[in-house]
Amino acid sequence: MMKQWQEFARHVHELYNSVEFIPLHEPTFNGNELSYVSDCVTSGWVSSVGQYVDRFEHDLAQFVGTKRAVAVVNGTAALHISLLLVGVERGDEVLVPSLTFVATANAISYIGAIPHFIDVEERTLGVDSKRLSHYLEDIVEWRDDIPFNRHTGRKIAAIVPMHTFGHAVDLHNLQRVSEKYHIPIVEDAAESLGTTYEGKQTGSFGKVGAISFNGNKIVTTGGGGAIVTNDEQLADRAKHLTTTAKVPHRWEYVHDEVAYNYRMPNLNAALGCAQLENLPMFIEQKRQLTNDYAKLVESLQGVRLYTEVEEVRSNYWLQTLILEDCSLNRDEILQWLNDANVMSRPIWKPLHTLSMYKQCPKMELGVTEQLEHRIINIPSTPIGR
Ligand SMILES: *Cc1c(COP(=O)(O)O)cnc(C)c1O
Repeated sequence: MMKQWQEFARHVHELYNSVEFIPLHEPTFNGNELSYVSDCVTSGWVSSVGQYVDRFEHDLAQFVGTKRAVAVVNGTAALHISLLLVGVERGDEVLVPSLTFVATANAISYIGAIPHFIDVEERTLGVDSKRLSHYLEDIVEWRDDIPFNRHTGRKIAAIVPMHTFGHAVDLHNLQRVSEKYHIPIVEDAAESLGTTYEGKQTGSFGKVGAISFNGNKIVTTGGGGAIVTNDEQLADRAKHLTTTAKVPHRWEYVHDEVAYNYRMPNLNAALGCAQLENLPMFIEQKRQLTNDYAKLVESLQGVRLYTEVEEVRSNYWLQTLILEDCSLNRDEILQWLNDANVMSRPIWKPLHTLSMYKQCPKMELGVTEQLEHRIINIPSTPIGR
């Protein structure tokens, strides 16, 4: 058993044409990054004012196909503001998969709202819209056309689907659930920039979408994030909330509410402009990597490579192995691969098992609980050839 994984590790080294440690995901800077960043430094416009922020927001909105994009300091801040934009308030409940990165639930908690954990489906690794619909049928109590959780008495104020490792959730059915139950969608598209669902970009389906440009994402600004939306008013509001609610004036400091300093610095935006130029290439390279892995995985017993479902064209941000044979031990395989200098990681610990989220409301999370032990991410840096 160990033999076949060592063999697999050898093939991964061949693929990356390297005998050294293969990281999970490294940024690729082979475009205009240096030129744009040094332009910032030379011009002195490195911080909160400068043309690259405007240009990055413009280019990003163009790519995602939304009317607007507002650049912020990181993806978590983008989620935080997105939730405020759709009206989430202290004491509300927000539906969120338990199988996500902790930031998704943290952003909900910053507002004083409560994560309400829902299950995922194996087909998409994301929110199971059909089961969610049945679940809401059970728990929703209407008060003046507003959905409340009949068990806790709290308003259900939003749903945050997350496109796991870049693969889109069942957006068609989710939108129907959102409409039927009057629950706005905030897409956590932190990992899925460039992924399309029925030909349309993820991030553009919800009332608002949040994207991350952290160092490990498909496009990085060093650290950064963005809110994307087709609603001009919400975009203006996002801009206001992320720039300390400053009222424009030639010299006076007038701020009209308590807000945030979440604006993306120009230096980071410069990096982002160059990265966006290469995004189509990154996606092609990642999709090619999936093809390469598909061949390698054929020789692994009881394991499959996750591949996109029919309606999705994925950015394949992180390559994903799914253990099909229940006798396979995830931790043993992680040990073998990491020992062989092939960086591999399990999926996140489901959030409902973390100390600060143990008490939160949740539906039956059977799929989440078994997927936790069956998923391994393997090196996913795009390979230039
Ligand atoms: C990366 C990520 C975030 C947070 O983004 P940061 O830029 O690191 O704050 C949120 N949700 C998911 C699913 C992520 O993968």
